[in-house]
Amino acid sequence: MPELWASPKPFGIGEQHPNNFWEVFRAIWENRDSLDYAYRILDQGVCDGCALGTSGIKDWTVTGLHLCNIRLRLLRLNTMPALDGEVLENVKALQSQRSRDLRGLGRIPYPMIRRRGEPGFRRISWEEALTLIADRIRASQPEHIYFYMTSRGVPNETYYAAQKAVRALGTNNIDNAARVCHSPSTFALKAALGVGATTCSYTDLVGTDLVVFFGSNVANNQPVMMKYLYYARKAGTKVAVVNPYREPAMERYWVPSDVESALFGTKIAEHFFQVQASGDIAFLHGTLKHMIGEGWLNDDFIRNHTAGFEELRSLVERLSWEELEAASGVNREQTRDFARLVANAERAVFVWGMGITQHTCGEDNVHAIINLALAKGFVGREGCGLMPIRGHSGVQGGAEMGAYATVFPGGLPINEENAAKFSQQWGFTVPKKPGLTTPEMLELALQRELEVLWSMGGDFREVMPDPELTGSALKTIPLRVHQDIVLSSQMLVEPDDTVILLPSTTRYEIPGGVTETSTERRVIFSPEIPGPRIDEARSEWEVFLELARRVRPEWADKLAFAGTEAIREEIARTIPFYDGIQNLKKKGDSFQYGGPMLCAGQKFSTADGKAHFKAVNLPQISLPAGAFRVVTRRGKQFNSMVHEDIDASTAATRDGVLMNPLDARRLGLLSGDHVRLHNDFGTYDGKVLVAPVTTGTLEVHWPEGNVLVDPKARSPLAKIPAYKEISATLERTNGAEQREPVLKL
Ligand code: SF4
Repeated sequence: MPELWASPKPFGIGEQHPNNFWEVFRAIWENRDSLDYAYRILDQGVCDGCALGTSGIKDWTVTGLHLCNIRLRLLRLNTMPALDGEVLENVKALQSQRSRDLRGLGRIPYPMIRRRGEPGFRRISWEEALTLIADRIRASQPEHIYFYMTSRGVPNETYYAAQKAVRALGTNNIDNAARVCHSPSTFALKAALGVGATTCSYTDLVGTDLVVFFGSNVANNQPVMMKYLYYARKAGTKVAVVNPYREPAMERYWVPSDVESALFGTKIAEHFFQVQASGDIAFLHGTLKHMIGEGWLNDDFIRNHTAGFEELRSLVERLSWEELEAASGVNREQTRDFARLVANAERAVFVWGMGITQHTCGEDNVHAIINLALAKGFVGREGCGLMPIRGHSGVQGGAEMGAYATVFPGGLPINEENAAKFSQQWGFTVPKKPGLTTPEMLELALQRELEVLWSMGGDFREVMPDPELTGSALKTIPLRVHQDIVLSSQMLVEPDDTVILLPSTTRYEIPGGVTETSTERRVIFSPEIPGPRIDEARSEWEVFLELARRVRPEWADKLAFAGTEAIREEIARTIPFYDGIQNLKKKGDSFQYGGPMLCAGQKFSTADGKAHFKAVNLPQISLPAGAFRVVTRRGKQFNSMVHEDIDASTAATRDGVLMNPLDARRLGLLSGDHVRLHNDFGTYDGKVLVAPVTTGTLEVHWPEGNVLVDPKARSPLAKIPAYKEISATLERTNGAEQREPVLKL
């Protein structure tokens, strides 16, 4: 279909776009010492990258290959040998290394310990490590210990076993990476629809009338989604993007596994609506205002299946266009174009990412998207759905397994009644008070009240706002345990008393195989894959339970599983919608909990059986005079793991400050000029990159931009940090004569 070609030049030679073929050669070279194992991981394992979900290199949506550059970059973490323990004997030189260089040193070989005042780590046995940790936990108040689980390929079985072990220790202080990504989506979806996950399947994208991406750049973060969109475009689907930046890779993409697209690229998104940062609610209210005024709603659906519309209607009608335009950054004519696009669609899927959730109004942003979908009845029908797209392979299952400070397994709220239910089921006393979220844990540490922190993967200094303050918080914790496959910078933070490193297995090394849950709620079995092993690395689920048995020997028989199969059996008994997980035994086995579509037939799991509109107010953002709105974005990276200094999609360097040409001209700036962003929380030095970002908004890379994030700014329910809600003033720090040439790839 030449009308969809992005460029007549074969392979887009000379165009700005990632070279996915180069990534294949790179992966072969990087894994050349264990190519057969690397191949087996790709061929048999479930991808440990984003949560799109695979079985080997196949999926359930399209025929042909499912493989992307993120997975190829992550492969080495699974195949590399152990690091030389001697490098950790003195950590001073390591402290100045970049995180990616630390990871590149190799797998953690054995348990290690570092005491206060010591220059580095020394080897200890698992027995010594677990005895020391158990003794400390026994001597601590349960509310002063904390467990954090990242998503680094972590499977459902590990999340489930860990949360059970932690609750046996007497606390709900366990949280996972979902806290900083889609926690607001879960709150809003549950309140509005009674479900906490994507309502449709990926197949609904292909051939539907319209797909809209809100604050989501799947080209970078879930690349195979672009293949789905390629097929969707060929089937006549329109694709729109609502985002401050006109993401180049969302506009044109070269799908490497399809000959036509690999050769000529494909025009994917044809409609862009460039809201300003924090302008989504105003834009969506404006859209509804047009649709209400024009009678472009699905009145039957609203009347028969929803509640709360009149309140929303009166709020939207009260808002003036002047207010809406000022708050959204989009004028009423463009907003009308979007309203017409939505109105003309019989079926549509709305997809959103961190651009929506990482705000103090994260839950309300999601409600505003749900409102628009409900206004047209885009739920519970084929080709329709709401999709909070997940960026990490473990996060969907992590919270559903209950590895979360605010919910028990199955998403049940933490309260007396549910604590009693789980106490009876598990045979030990389950605490009834909600635990601390991750930001709250760091506050407790700063008050010197946290006694033990166990961090399974993750790097708080990279992920949490205000890295310096976060580092200070870590330094106050008497015992820190870091359980991981590779080194991270937080492991090297000076001990208050003791730091212990524990080596973990990857998901492909766990005997009995494991499962993950994808964005479309597909629970997928990933088998154990034969290959080289790190002798002393242990499966994380086993370690958590052994710790709990040591602390609570009286409950030892209740804190043991024969293997991952036994964990899956208990998950099926504990979480009704995971019934079926016990039947997953070999590569390719999977099931979608809830079926291909949630809310089918417009039946909602709310108290009144209806879907609920929510009249959300416009966020009150006070911007100091002359300040820019600043949002953090990702480049060539996987979540906080940076892979390249330059993003091949945008040509932005890691310190790039993406700026609209009008703003640049007003300030006399050119691409390459050095600038400094300031606010009350920090200073960020970067280089201007003139780019199609909306006026008044700047974009900087995450996690580097975290120095500008207000550590206290969080959404009210999910407590997600506001990574996309920064204001900062800007000054130029180089003279015209010092201008550097703009970097071209
Ligand atoms: S799109 Fe996501 S699931 Fe698919 S291969 Fe890439 S990282 Fe893995």
